[in-house]
Formats: sequence, structure tokens, C-alpha cells
Amino acid sequence: MSLFDLLQTVPAAFIGACLILGLMVGSFLNVVIHRLPKMMELGWQQQCAELHGETPQISSHPDGDATPHTPYNLVVPRSACPHCNHAISAWENIPVISYVLLRGKCRGCGAAISPRYPIIEAISGILCAYAAAHFGFGLVAAGALLLIWALLALTAIDFDTQLLPDDITLPLLWTGLLFNLFGVFTNLPSAVFGAVIGYLALWSVYWLFKLTTGKEGMGYGDFKLLAALGAWLGWQMLPLIILLSSLVGAVVGITLIVALKHGRNIPIPFGPYLAGGGLIALFWGQTLTQGYLQLLSSP
Ligand SMILES: [Zn+2]
Repeated sequence: MSLFDLLQTVPAAFIGACLILGLMVGSFLNVVIHRLPKMMELGWQQQCAELHGETPQISSHPDGDATPHTPYNLVVPRSACPHCNHAISAWENIPVISYVLLRGKCRGCGAAISPRYPIIEAISGILCAYAAAHFGFGLVAAGALLLIWALLALTAIDFDTQLLPDDITLPLLWTGLLFNLFGVFTNLPSAVFGAVIGYLALWSVYWLFKLTTGKEGMGYGDFKLLAALGAWLGWQMLPLIILLSSLVGAVVGITLIVALKHGRNIPIPFGPYLAGGGLIALFWGQTLTQGYLQLLSSP
């Protein structure tokens, strides 16, 4: 029996493989979440310098290494402890397990490692295993994995920086269209309308809010994220996604204001709620929409 046959015929093998893949990609997502915003900032600094007629120079490495012109991207430099620069070896980089074995401390200097790293890895692993069990072997599961990883990275980056990078939202949008060119999640017209209506829906809310209150309630990244979710799941899922994200957003927002005395004017990123709404729609969207349509039609 080949590996392909095994994954196709034994559900437990497929779920296990997706769990391990999810954990490993989760480890890479930590790198993306940490570095992508810094790469964007370096890019903006360079563009500003060029506009002002200065020779662009990268003065210092965003992670503290002060060598000029060191390349900084998702691959180089190698991961190191931010406190003592101890290079992280392969065995110290095993998702979740290394964190437990190291008891959450750097082997070089004993500084605490943020529990966020194993948490992101575990969430990625669990969601991927769940997608494998829910959808079974096939293109739908493959697409679901990609969508899960993109939404996880966007959630964490938006939470940290209030940014939803185009480098993730735009490829996510056209990957969704590409999957639905083959009708994987919905048909192509529904996906194209999903992308257009998703963008315009939040764009109009943004302008209504801005014209009436003079404030900016959300960013362009939010429009692009909802457009991407529309491209993946079809326009029919948009009302559900908006409803779910507003509900979760309202609950979390009010809790933050009450419990932490979080100022009402401090922006709360909307991206994580959109991503959460999108994930719920991915797994249970059909069931939920059928449920509320039945509720509406029953006398
Ligand atoms: Zn260290």
C-alpha cells in the first residue's frame, strides 16, 4: 500500500498526518507572524528614504543584530533567542514538544520563551486535524488547511499590529478563486460575487461610519479579508460571517471595556473576528444557513 492509498483509505492516518503537518506549519506561522510586519516596516522605511532622495540604508537589524545590510526575510536569519542570540537548533524547534522539554526557557540564557509559540502551533495542529476529520481526504481538506493557516497568521498579526498584510490577504483571495474554478467549496460565479460583495460591504460600512462620525472604524485590510472569505466560501456565506464576527466582536469588545477598563476609543482589531467568523462558516456554514432559513420559513 502506498502512502497516498494509506492516507486515502485510513481516516486515522490522514488525521494524524494533518495534525503533524499543522504543528510544523504552525511553527513556520510563528516566524511569519513575528517577521512579516517588521519586513513591511523595513520596506516602508526604504521607500521613504528613496522619496526623500536619500540612499536607502537598513541601519539595524529589527531583531537587534546591528550588522548593516543583513538580509531579513522569512528564511534568513536563522531563528535565535532575542535575549542572548543563542541559535535555535532543530531539536529545540520541534513544535510544542520542545517547549515542554525546555520548560519554556531558552537553553542559552534561561529567559522565558513566550507561551504564544506553542499555543499557535497547537491551534494550527488541532484545527488541521479537525479539518481532516470533518472533510475527509481530498481537495476540500487541502483548501481548508491553507485557509486555516492564512487566517491564523492574519489574526495574530492584526492582534499585534492592527495590520492585515496584503502579502497574505491578496494571495488568499486569488487562491480561493482558483480552488472554486474547480468548484471545490462553491461554484465560480458565487466565488467572484463573494469577493466583490465582500469588499464592497465593509467598504460601504467604512464610508458611512466615516461620513457620520468622522472616525475610521476599520481598515482596508478588513475589506480585503472579507473579500477573500467571499472568494473561498461564496457570497451566500457573507451575511453569516458578518453576523458571527459582529457577535463575537461585540462580546469580546464589551468584556474588554468592562473588565480591563480598555478605553472605548482604543481601536479593537476587527480582523480576528472576521477570521473567526470565516472559520465557523468554513466548518458549519451550510448547516447554520440551512438552520436559519428553516427557522424563517417555518410558520
Ligand atoms: Zn537566550
